[in-house]
Amino acid sequence: MSGLSAKNATSRYRSGRAMLWLWLLFVLPAVAPAESPRFYEAPALNGDGVFSLLRRYGLDRHSCNHEQFYKLNNLKRNAPLIVGRYYKLPIAIYTFNGRTIRSTIGIDDYDLALRIQHYNEAMHRAGLREHDFREDKQLWVPWHLLHCPEPDIPSPATPAGSQGEVTSMGPRAGTDDKSASASAVRGRIFPIFGPGYQYVPLQDNRLRGKVFYVVSGHGGPDPGALGKRAGHTLCEDEYAYDVALRLVRMLVAHGATAYMITRDKNDGIRDERLLECDTDEVIWGDLTIHRGQKARLFQRSDVINQLYERHRRQGVTDQLTIVIHVDSRSKKERTDLFFYYHPDSEESKRVAQVLHRTMARKYRRYRANGQYHGTVTARDLHMLREVRTPAVYIELANIRNAWDQRRIVLTENREALAKWLYEGLLGMYGH
Ligand SMILES: [Zn+2]
Repeated sequence: MSGLSAKNATSRYRSGRAMLWLWLLFVLPAVAPAESPRFYEAPALNGDGVFSLLRRYGLDRHSCNHEQFYKLNNLKRNAPLIVGRYYKLPIAIYTFNGRTIRSTIGIDDYDLALRIQHYNEAMHRAGLREHDFREDKQLWVPWHLLHCPEPDIPSPATPAGSQGEVTSMGPRAGTDDKSASASAVRGRIFPIFGPGYQYVPLQDNRLRGKVFYVVSGHGGPDPGALGKRAGHTLCEDEYAYDVALRLVRMLVAHGATAYMITRDKNDGIRDERLLECDTDEVIWGDLTIHRGQKARLFQRSDVINQLYERHRRQGVTDQLTIVIHVDSRSKKERTDLFFYYHPDSEESKRVAQVLHRTMARKYRRYRANGQYHGTVTARDLHMLREVRTPAVYIELANIRNAWDQRRIVLTENREALAKWLYEGLLGMYGH
């Protein structure tokens, strides 16, 4: 087609559009109603029922999503789905105005906007949507966030009596039978990560068969070391916890079985910079954290050793404990992330060295001067000595140093630390 005729076609189209707008001006009421959103449509796949279709999009645990699904598609309850047919999902699509989620959909609840943002990001990471919403201007608003935010349908991953084991393989870890992959599809909701992050799609199986115990230091009555920044108190346990959660989520996304040993049921992954100090953390199994230092540490190592024994009997050979802390030194001392291993364990030393090498490589690339001074040293610490798995102990920063604080206070830095640790672990298993 020549340039000229293309231009003519365009201008004809343009004038037609102008007429339409003119016409709309007269027809529409003076105050335009809020944009009425369309709903996202997705095909039913082989073997899909309403539950599994909704589950794929992190929608299955809210009854109002189910009701809306039946309504949108004029279906009777429990109607079977036809493979390949597209169904409307309870996900409203708004045209993102490029400014804020709040002004796009007409809400003023900041937290709600954040949850909507996280949902969109999770769907993008999961590959369920091709672009980031800021790119293609398609904002997905799941029905439940506006209509029934609290999940009221139990997750199939958390049978009654369990408190949500963070595992992607269920009790069959380490085996290769078919039910393992079936449960991998079932159990992708982990409330411990918080509403915006609880859906953890399986990205690949690179860490399948490996078990990780991630322990963030302190918690409960013990906030750990304290720092000050801009009039706020920084509590060690909160920052260690957030990095630990992010790391566990990555491990689970890649097929590992990973446990958060210190747990806070209402914190989840937090995207604020300054994290509020609280005291409601518990230990895996809903154990109240002991006040005494020694009892507190044994509580953790005992829990890990019990789980270790269980997985060992299932035939799991790769189990690892990762302990995350934030150090406290004099205000002036800048401290790069550093590692401890146990002097009697070659495996512990190897893990520390591999992670250390990864950190050095990352800093070479991402730090202006490319330098990294983090150390790897042996130390006879309780959590390294008493757990039956190899263990590595990580100090993220000096919580009292203003420069170091940026490493834990900036959300993107916490995410980067978790990602680099995760990549180091991948490297350790030869990926
Ligand atoms: Zn500590």
